[in-house]
Amino acid sequence: MSEIANSTHHRVAIIGSGPAGFTAALYTARANLKPVIFEGMQPGGQLTITTEIENYPGFEHGIQGPELMNIMRKQTERFGAESLFKEVTEIDFSKRPFTIKTYDSIHTADAVIVATGASAKLLNIESETKYMGYGVSACATCDGFFFKGLKIMVVGGGDTAMEEANYLTKFASEVTVVHRRDEFRASKIMLNRANKNPKIKFLTNKVVKEVLGKEEEGRKTMTGVLLEDTVDHSVQKVDVDGLFMAIGHKPNTDLFKGILDMDETGYLKVKQSSTCTNIPGIFAAGDVADKVYRQAITAAGSGCMAAIDAERWLQEEG
Ligand code: FAD
Ligand code: NAP
Repeated sequence: MSEIANSTHHRVAIIGSGPAGFTAALYTARANLKPVIFEGMQPGGQLTITTEIENYPGFEHGIQGPELMNIMRKQTERFGAESLFKEVTEIDFSKRPFTIKTYDSIHTADAVIVATGASAKLLNIESETKYMGYGVSACATCDGFFFKGLKIMVVGGGDTAMEEANYLTKFASEVTVVHRRDEFRASKIMLNRANKNPKIKFLTNKVVKEVLGKEEEGRKTMTGVLLEDTVDHSVQKVDVDGLFMAIGHKPNTDLFKGILDMDETGYLKVKQSSTCTNIPGIFAAGDVADKVYRQAITAAGSGCMAAIDAERWLQEEG
C-alpha cells in the first residue's frame, strides 16, 4: 500500500530500449501517452555492440549501430518520451494498474510493452567462465581492439559469427570460424563475404571442448582451445589468443516466468497478428517474442504494432 503511494504512474511503460522499445515509445509519445522507457542494462539494445548496419531502410550507405540507436532515442525524446536508465527487477501484472519496480523506484502503468530483447548465449563450460575477459569474449565490437596482430577463433555458424569474424580481421592476424555442423545458418551474402576474406578460415564439424590458458603472477591468459570433431570425436589443440562466442541469443524473459506465456525456449507468446500477450494490457514486441526473424527492422515494426495495440486497448478500457 505505502509502496504504491510512493510510486510514479504512467499511461504506458516500455521495458527495453532496442529498436522495438524505441519505436513503441515514438508511436505512444506521438499518441500523447507520455511513455516511460526503462532502458535496462544495455541502453540502445543489441545494435549498440555492433558496427555497420547495412539493412536498416533509410540509410543508403549504412549506419553504425550505436549511432542508429542514439538517433532513435532522440526521436522519442522529441515527442516527450522519458528514458530511465534503470533495470526492471520486479513486476506485478496480477492487478491494475500494473506495477514495475527497479532497484530504487516503483512505478505503475495502465499498459506495459515488453521489449526486453535477447542476450548472447555462452557454451557453459567451466574454462570459458575462467577466461572470460582474459581472451574469451561475447562482443567483438567491445573487445576486438585488444587483439591487434593476434589469432582469434569465432564460434558459430550464423550471421553474427560471419559479421564478427569479418569485423575482427580489422585487428587480428587470422580469424578461424569454428562451427559444429558443415552447413551454415548464416545468410548467403554474409557467408560469401567471410569466405572471400583472406584472413578468415573455417573449421566445420568441431566444438570447443575446453579453453586453455596459463596463470602467471596471478594474471590469466588464454593460450588456445581443445576442439572435438563431432563426427569422429578426435580432439585437437589449436593455439589462439582470443575466443569470441557468436552462438546466438537467449530471450530476456526470466522476469516474466510463470506470468506471461512463453514457448519452450523462453520466447514470449503473442496472439496471432498482434502483440497481445495472455494478460490484457501487456504487449510484447521485438526479439523477445520473435525467434524467426530477429532483425532490427522487424523489431521496430512490432514495436509500432505494440504501440497501436496498447493505444487501442487503453481507448477501449476508457
Ligand atoms: P534488443 O535490441 O535486444 O534490446 C533489448 C532491450 O531490453 C535492451 O535495451 C535491454 O537493456 C532491455 N532490457 C532487458 N531486460 C531488461 C530489464 N529487466 N529492465 C529494463 N530493460 C531491460 N539486425 C539487423 O537488422 N541488422 C544488422 O546488421 C544486425 N546486426 C546485428 C549484430 C549483432 C552482433 C547482433 C547481436 C544482432 C544484430 N542484429 C541485426 C539483430 C538486431 O540487433 C536485433 O534484432 C534487435 O536489436 C532486436 O531489437 P529489440 O528491441 O527486440 O531488443
Ligand atoms: P543464430 O542465427 O541463432 O545462429 C547461431 C549459431 O551458433 C548457429 O550456427 C548454431 O549452430 C550455433 N550454436 C548455437 N549454440 C551452439 C553451441 N552451444 N555450440 C556451438 N555452436 C552453437 O544466431 P545469430 O547468428 O546471432 O543471429 C541472430 C539473428 O540476428 C538472425 O536472425 C540473424 O539473421 C540476425 N543478424 C543479422 C545480421 C545481418 O543481417 N547483418 C547480423 C547479425 C545477426 P546450428 O546452426 O547448428 O544451430
